Amino acid sequence: MQMSADTIFALSSGRPPAAIAVVRVSGPAAGAALQALIGKIPAPRQAALARVRDPASGEMIDEGLALWFPGPRSETGEDTAELQMHGGRAVIAGVLAALARVPGCRPAEAGEFTRRAFENGRLDLTRVEGLADLVGADTEAQRRQAFRQMRGALGDRAETWRTQLIEALALVEARIDFPDEGDVPENLIAPALAKAQELRDEIANTLADQRRGERLREGLVVAIAGPPNAGKSSLLNRIARRDAAIVSPFAGTTRDVIEVHLDLDGSPVTFLDTAGIRDSTDPVEQEGVRRARERAAAADLVLWVMDSSASGEIAGEAIAQEFPNNAKWIVWNKIDLVSALRIKSLKSIVHKLNYPSYFISALTESGFGEFLEVLRGHAQEFLGSTEPALVTRTRHRYALENAVAALERALNEPAAREDVVAEELRLAGRALGRLTGRVDVEDVLDVIFRDFCIGK
Ligand code: GDP
Repeated sequence: MQMSADTIFALSSGRPPAAIAVVRVSGPAAGAALQALIGKIPAPRQAALARVRDPASGEMIDEGLALWFPGPRSETGEDTAELQMHGGRAVIAGVLAALARVPGCRPAEAGEFTRRAFENGRLDLTRVEGLADLVGADTEAQRRQAFRQMRGALGDRAETWRTQLIEALALVEARIDFPDEGDVPENLIAPALAKAQELRDEIANTLADQRRGERLREGLVVAIAGPPNAGKSSLLNRIARRDAAIVSPFAGTTRDVIEVHLDLDGSPVTFLDTAGIRDSTDPVEQEGVRRARERAAAADLVLWVMDSSASGEIAGEAIAQEFPNNAKWIVWNKIDLVSALRIKSLKSIVHKLNYPSYFISALTESGFGEFLEVLRGHAQEFLGSTEPALVTRTRHRYALENAVAALERALNEPAAREDVVAEELRLAGRALGRLTGRVDVEDVLDVIFRDFCIGK
């Protein structure tokens, strides 16, 4: 099934220069493109040596490998060609320019290959999402979850449920269509409702997962906040063990939120350095502050960093005001600058504050190891067991909740009226169809493919 007249091409491998570059071509003119560039079409699915020539000048651009995947048994479902060349910028530019000259060929948009795979029925929507997550996976557990989803763990389950729903619906519709006919048994509605009950329980069971899948996919989001110069960026650097944030002796130089994605012993954790959070009159800085606030407000945990050596009030109320809905820890930094007595008195103060408190030095690493250990444990606990979950996005949860709600309405229909039950079963099936992208797909497609890169 070839849905698009255009043939698309793009660099599908990473940023050049690199050892190898992979350029993919998909669409009806993919074969013609191979003919034009390498003068032949290799045997299907077998690598062949390819001398790539510019079709206009005849000059050889590079030597590499070519692969030919005739549709519909290709990733996109269309005729697809793949060129593997040396990953130099000029080589890639030359090949892309040559492809642009092949009639019917144009550069692909972000996610367009995958979009065609979806449109040609090669991937359902949950598999597309799994593919996006696989590309974005930072940790082993995230990879495992994404891979399962790409292989259809959720999509196939939803399709099975939908098929069972259609069977139940057929029973009810038989009663509606032939209400008086003797050979249609009276009690068709009872087995249909039994099936609905079974499905309701099974889907509800899938949803009762403490949001494990969504949590693993997103990771633990930790905002690092607190007054300027307390050492937020230094702490983040210490955690990341690389120069991810700007450490500066001047207040407020980190204008924007800096995000650092880390694999903390297998737990995906995103740190937000919100060093810019403070009032400012500079419009650029104000925008940074606004974004920082917004991101931090949704964090799963706030590390409120304080300078142990600074005099002034303990910001107990400020923390509660700024982060009313988050778990909060206070990190007393710069303990290398203060006396043991000062630490002792701080400890007695924070005792009353009711936030877990840690005393560290981002500079000397004193207390830092213990602190990181607690943070690791927290991340592990937050992300829950490693038992795989099927639901990995709010979109999935929403669709399944809608299906459960419709099934419950069908089950609670007091008189078990066939037309009402049938309508609710239809709605439940529709919710499942939306999950896999069988129905009502238009409004979600753009959102999903927006996350893809060009060449995917
Ligand atoms: P931020 O504004 O909260 O991000 O603070 P920075 O991380 O930029 O740190 C402000 C200043 O404090 C810098 O000069 C750091 O080198 C210094 N600093 C950070 N942590 C420590 C620490 O544990 N001990 C000492 N002595 N200085 C620190």
